[in-house]
Amino acid sequence: MGESNALYYSETRPIGAAGDFITAPEISQMFGEMIGIYLASMWRAAGQPPNVHYVELGPGRGTLAHDALRTMTRFGLSPSVHFVEGSPSLRAVQSAQVADITFHEDVSTLPDDGPILMVANEFFDALALRQLLCTDRGWYERMVGLVDEKLAFVSGNKPMDAAIGDNFKDAPIGAIVESSPASAAIMKEAARRITAQAGCAVVIDYGYGAARLGSSLQAVQNHTKIGVFDAPGRADLTFHVDFAALAESASAAGARCNPLMTQGDWLRLMGIGARAEALSRAQPERMSEIALAHHRLTHADEMGDLFKVLTIAGGNWTCIMNSSELE
Ligand code: SAH
Repeated sequence: MGESNALYYSETRPIGAAGDFITAPEISQMFGEMIGIYLASMWRAAGQPPNVHYVELGPGRGTLAHDALRTMTRFGLSPSVHFVEGSPSLRAVQSAQVADITFHEDVSTLPDDGPILMVANEFFDALALRQLLCTDRGWYERMVGLVDEKLAFVSGNKPMDAAIGDNFKDAPIGAIVESSPASAAIMKEAARRITAQAGCAVVIDYGYGAARLGSSLQAVQNHTKIGVFDAPGRADLTFHVDFAALAESASAAGARCNPLMTQGDWLRLMGIGARAEALSRAQPERMSEIALAHHRLTHADEMGDLFKVLTIAGGNWTCIMNSSELE
């Protein structure tokens, strides 16, 4: 999965209406603006410390950073910019959108000398997923192999029963338990830095708050779901993020987590309603477009409920929930 996505993001321009899938920052500038407002609020609540670093994991086309940084500037916050991005072609797109980016292959080389404002939107869902399958002989890893010259799921040969928590010990044959060791490792290192250097993180993705059974692996090409083996390296492979596991990794590294919120509730708390009204007043000709974007980002039938927001703070930063600090 990691290999397939690395190839996928290196050779194509996947994101946007003309690509394979569209993300929240590509729907409307309001999404990045609300994140900018939250980060500026956190920074003000912490007493406006100097030498702050904006860090984004998997910044896509750079649109979110562009909108968030513009908003932060309005509140007197101009952090240095660090992108963790594996794709050379997306790095080029991002450089056209945001000035003075320092690029990183992974979180290990991020600056260690000041508070961190971290953002990850639809990043963790694209990392490698591990699935364990319950068989009549116990639990085994679901792996990928060649069967009749075609990619197919095959069983690993090592018993994996020890990796199954008590909550799933009685699962029926055929049950699947997912985890993402790659996500846990990145979250742990990110939270360790946020704890040591102070700062905060906003993680947004489709996912769930309590551990559950079942496969959430899917492939998306041209805005349509296809079979996961149909187009290796040419379709986006994703899974639903286990936010309980991410919060656990962050807490284990010493950071504090707010309760998980839906994207709709969180954006409303940040003031997206008022922002939509202000934009519509300033540009009446775009009123219906703005209303539609507001609906897509917040409504339960669109992205509002499926997408979740996990906010994290570390060091001496207070883990505030809302942006009232700026009013
Ligand atoms: N956040 C963007 C893009 C989401 S797509 C948006 O909201 O539009 C996933 C992003 O993560 C892409 O930028 C992709 O190149 C990057 N990515 C995926 N796996 C990665 C990895 N292992 N290391 C670094 N970047 C990765």
